[in-house]
Parts: sequence; C-alpha cells; structure tokens
Amino acid sequence: MCGIAGYIGKNEAAPVLLESLKKLEYRGYDSAGLAVIDKNNKINSIKVNGRINLLEKELRKNDPLKGSIGISHTRWATHGEPSKKNAHPHSDCEENIWVAHNGIIENYKILKEQLEKEGHQFKSDTDTEVISHLIEKYFKKNGQNLEKAVRQALEKIEGAYGLAIIARDEPDKIIAVRKGSPLIIGLGQDEYFIASDPSAIIGYTKQVIYLDDEEMAIIKKDGFKVVGFDNIEKEKISQETEWDVKQIQKSGFSHFMLKEIFEEPEAIKNSIRGRLIPEDGLAKLGGLESVTEKLKEINRLIIVACGTARYAGLVGEYMIEEYAGIPVEVDMGSEFRYRKPIIDKKTAVLAISQSGETADTLAALREAKRKGALTLGITNVVGSTQSRETEAGVYNHVGPEIAVGSTKAFISQLTVLALLAIYLGRQREMSLITGRRIGQELQKLPDLAEKILKQDQQIKNLAKKYSKFKNFFFLGRKYNLGIAEEGAIKLKEIAYYIHAESYPGGEMKHGPIALIDENLPSLFIVPSDSVYEKMINAIEETKARKGKIIAIATEGNEEIKKIADDVIYIPKTLEMLTPILSVIPLHLFSAYMGLELGCDIDKPRNLAKSVTVE
Ligand code: GLU
Repeated sequence: MCGIAGYIGKNEAAPVLLESLKKLEYRGYDSAGLAVIDKNNKINSIKVNGRINLLEKELRKNDPLKGSIGISHTRWATHGEPSKKNAHPHSDCEENIWVAHNGIIENYKILKEQLEKEGHQFKSDTDTEVISHLIEKYFKKNGQNLEKAVRQALEKIEGAYGLAIIARDEPDKIIAVRKGSPLIIGLGQDEYFIASDPSAIIGYTKQVIYLDDEEMAIIKKDGFKVVGFDNIEKEKISQETEWDVKQIQKSGFSHFMLKEIFEEPEAIKNSIRGRLIPEDGLAKLGGLESVTEKLKEINRLIIVACGTARYAGLVGEYMIEEYAGIPVEVDMGSEFRYRKPIIDKKTAVLAISQSGETADTLAALREAKRKGALTLGITNVVGSTQSRETEAGVYNHVGPEIAVGSTKAFISQLTVLALLAIYLGRQREMSLITGRRIGQELQKLPDLAEKILKQDQQIKNLAKKYSKFKNFFFLGRKYNLGIAEEGAIKLKEIAYYIHAESYPGGEMKHGPIALIDENLPSLFIVPSDSVYEKMINAIEETKARKGKIIAIATEGNEEIKKIADDVIYIPKTLEMLTPILSVIPLHLFSAYMGLELGCDIDKPRNLAKSVTVE
C-alpha cells in the first residue's frame, strides 16, 4: 500500500520524485525515501521517518543527490514499525540492488531465514528487504542479468506487490513489476515516469500505461518493453488520463477535504451528465450496455465494498429493492470470500470502490467471478484494477479525490446507484412516470446541494459547540441508515479523538440507549419521509434521558426545533434521494470538528486512501 514513484529521463530525478511523492501523499503514509543513481553509477539514498517535507529538507542538505534515474516510496508500514531504518527503498548486502515496494510479501519469514543462513545481512524489519536480497542472490548466480534475476526472485515470493527496482550494476534502467498493487508508466518526451496512480504524474504527462497483474516493465531512457512473468512480451496501449492538474490543487481552500465537499454539487452533476433521458424516464449507462440483456435476467444483486463505499451500498440496497424489485444484499469486501457466498448465474455482484484498487473488494470480486456471477463495478479511477476485472461498470467521473476521507466520490456513488435503480427498474416494472420523476428530481440535486453548502458557517459553529464531546451517536432509518453509518465513520476518521457509533433509529431502544446521558450527543437524520414519525419516537426517547440532539431535517419542519437542540435543514426531494443531500452537512460537520480539534483532516492518522492490502 501507499506510493511508488520513479523517474528515468533527461532531467534531474530527485525533484521529480519529490513532486510525485507529494501528489501521492493523500494515499496516507508514515515514512518516505528515495534512491537515485549518480553519474558514477553509485546509488545514493535518503529516507525519513515522517512527512515528505522532512525528506525535502534532508534532500536540500544533501545536494549531491544528483542523477537522472531514481525510485522513491511512501510507506504505510505493514511489517516493522515506521522508522528511518524501515523506510524504502531497501537494498541488498552490497547496496547494488534497490527496491521500493507496495504491498506485502506473505512468505517473507521463510525467505529471510533462508537468506540469512546463506549469509545475507538484513538491515530492516520489513518484509520488503527479502526482495532485494533474493534478486542479489540470483543476480550473482545467473551471471549478472538483472531482468532474469528479478524474474527468478518473483517465482519465489508470494503476496501482493508493486515494485520499482534499480541496480548499480545495470544503471541504465528501472524495472517495474506489478502483482496486486497498482503501478502505471507515464510516457513523456524522452522520459518515463512510474507511479502508483496518475495523480502523481499528471503535471508531467497525461499519457499512461496501466500495468496488469503479473507484468514487468523494463524501462530505459530511450524506450521500454513490458513482459509477462512468463517472459512473453506484451503489447501495451497508452491511454490519456482524464484528470488534470487543477484537480489536484487546493484552489484557495485550506484543505482538500473542504475543497472536495464544496465540489459535491459538481460531483452529482458529473455523475448524471449524459446519463439521463428524462422524457423517456430512462438512465443511459454506457458502461453497462454490453451486459444489458444479462441484467434483465438477474434476480439477485450482491454489493461488495468496504468502509464508506459499503455505506453507499446500503443506500443502494434500499433504492434498488424498492425501485427495481431485485433483492439486494450488501457485504463487506473483507468478509465475502471467507463465508460461503451462494451465487448462481442469475446473481450479479457489484463492487464499489473509489480507487478501484481496494484489495478486499477485489478479492471478493474474483471469488464471485469464479463462482459464475456477473461482475459489475462502480469506481472513480479509469483503468483501475476493478474496472478492468469487472465485466461492466460505471465510472464516477468526479476527478481525483485527494483527501483520505471520501466525500465527493461517496456522493457520486449514491448518485450512480440511483441511476442504476432507474436503469434496472425500467428493465422491469418501473413505470415511465416514476422513471421520469426520479430523473427530474436527480437533475435538481446539484442546486439543492449548493443550498446546503451555504449553511457552512452554521455547521462550523455547531462543530465549535460540540467539539468538547468525546462520544457521538448517529441515527437514521431506511434510506438514511447508510448515511448515519457514513456520518459516524467520517467523524471517527477525521476528528480522530472522537468516538462515534451509528445505529438504525429503531435499534436505539434495544440497547444503545443505555449509554445516553447529557455527555453523549446524538445526531438524528430525520427528513420528512416515510419513517419520520418512528424517528421522532427515537428522538423523544433520547431526549427523555437528557441526551443532546442535533437533527438533520427537511426545510419547513418547524416542529423539530421544539425537541432538537440544533437543527440543520436540507431541501425537500424524493425520499430515495434524501441521502444525497443529508450526507453533505455530515461531511462538513466532521471536517470542522477535525479542524476544531487540530487534526490533519486531509491525512488522518493511521489511515491510507486506497487500501491495497488485504
Ligand atoms: N510491506 C512493506 C513494508 O512494511 C511495504 C508497505 C507499503 O506498501 O508501503 O515495508
């Protein structure tokens, strides 16, 4: 997990690597490092335990880190504590072969023992270091052919990895390897970039090649080739990434998270653009065209996702069951394949992942595929593993999401699920009138979302008022149950000294209410919908136990002010679409709570943006 960047070309490598690492910061990391080949073919490296700006400072001190070929890494520790010694790149005994690695080497213990017996000396506690020593071993054995040595080493290692490798004894190339952790090659003018995702390099080039699993690229200044692990050469076609540089800048906002929340109306717009035929009450999802007939046949849908994306799935469950009449289950990507999921040819499995690289979700998807399910996906990253491994899918098209906590991508996932409900519904019993009505309401959402953002200052004040509390409950029902979950996870992630739990409103009296007193505020999502009265009961019960109440309610509901301590209003829309609006104040609330508490809201502690290890 986390980030790899590499450079080979006509310019100095270190500044490019540093810039690229900065762009990858959003993925979350604990330490960083880089290694550059100088003109005498010596490899120099700098590593730090901490942020990239520390690396930058070190680099300034060590001006002689010159050279036009280098690799770099941001580490999210899996084996060995975050420290300078464990930061990548890692070298072999002779400081010849250097490796930056994302992922996990599962059999590293056995390999390490063996290598140590053979005399290799290890300098770190990481699983990664076995790779450089293994390559060293085969490099010496096979008459010093780096490419071959890498291939031989790969035969021995088990796990998931993205690798960038350089060697003093073959100083004209970088070898990039992918199995399970994403890696791309950016094509410049007489220069090449390697990165974990396009955001790292879009300042330099938009032409990228996505490596597939079990592929290895040998990149020199004047060209590159890609071979499979079986050493058969592959033809790769470059694609132009749709992301642009503006999207990875803060554009006047203090934090990416705030910028991305303020982009939520635009995210809804981008998600529905060109995808509605309002007069026919239809959704047009180009990415599903190839499986239209198959989708008519399915009688069950399983949504697999993790974290926030799963909460979008929970909302989707209600939308699709109500409007398409298809039974839907939502499962955690991390659990799915460890159960015995029952799947047949009429089951479709829909994966939701912002990055399209979520390892748990991909593992679930592969299991579903193996069992014969039709596999579908919703992702924001064109060319991601998920998009390539699913039979069909829908892109979010909301541009790169930099803050670790997902906001605009989440809202887009909800929007796409609403489109999917129309799409599947209209294949079945949904009437033209209903299809039209949802379509029309969807089109109004961007403006309604803007209206909510205008309450920015009020929500900021609310955060100030409530930031002294250490625990929170989030409650919702039906369509807004997933939003209560989302509100709680966001607060936990972003304002990381606060503990937050969510419950369905109806469950309150079955246990959680035991905790209510004046020190535990509850945030109720209570739009004027079909479960409003029931939610009011839960509020009354909470109030009776002196619990503080924040309510998210529908504009015009004055009654609620009598029982809630604070109210945030959202405009009226269809019940199924309320989540797309009710989540916006929750996103703002968690961001402002985080800022109140002095948290780094873009890069919360212990978290990584895309969780590419299982
Ligand atoms: N497993 C490796 C380590 O702990 C790589 C972690 C990463 O992907 O950043 O060093």
